Amino acid sequence: MNRDCIFCKIAAGEIPCRKVYEDEEVIAFHDINPAAPVHFMLVPKVHIVSLADARAGHEGLLGRILLLAPRLAGEQGLADGFRTIINTGRGGGQEVMHLHVHVMGGGRLHPM
Ligand code: AMP
Ligand code: ZN
Repeated sequence: MNRDCIFCKIAAGEIPCRKVYEDEEVIAFHDINPAAPVHFMLVPKVHIVSLADARAGHEGLLGRILLLAPRLAGEQGLADGFRTIINTGRGGGQEVMHLHVHVMGGGRLHPM
């Protein structure tokens, strides 16, 4: 756990969140500033700074997160589909330096 990291504190239950899902390795919660009618994030509990810091040992964890995305999206009512975004580093617009996968939908999304 990184004591300076807000997502580590959420994963540890020290900061409240609107939880979507939790297991031993992963927590998912609604974005505090949603960019779509449904907008939540999948977050590994272990502190990985960004996708650029993920290593071979994280393969299983990353795979689990990607497989959880459609399941949780469906549970959140995104039967029509959803967008996933992983911002990486300052150049990728990442603001919280703990790896997370955004899942959003429920309205018209701008084309990429
Ligand atoms: P990113 O730009 O990919 O790093 O996204 C960080 C996201 O975290 C933003 O969409 C924020 O709205 C969201 N966020 C920041 N603090 C919190 C929080 N305490 N609870 C839920 N979402 C948060
Ligand atoms: Zn962290």
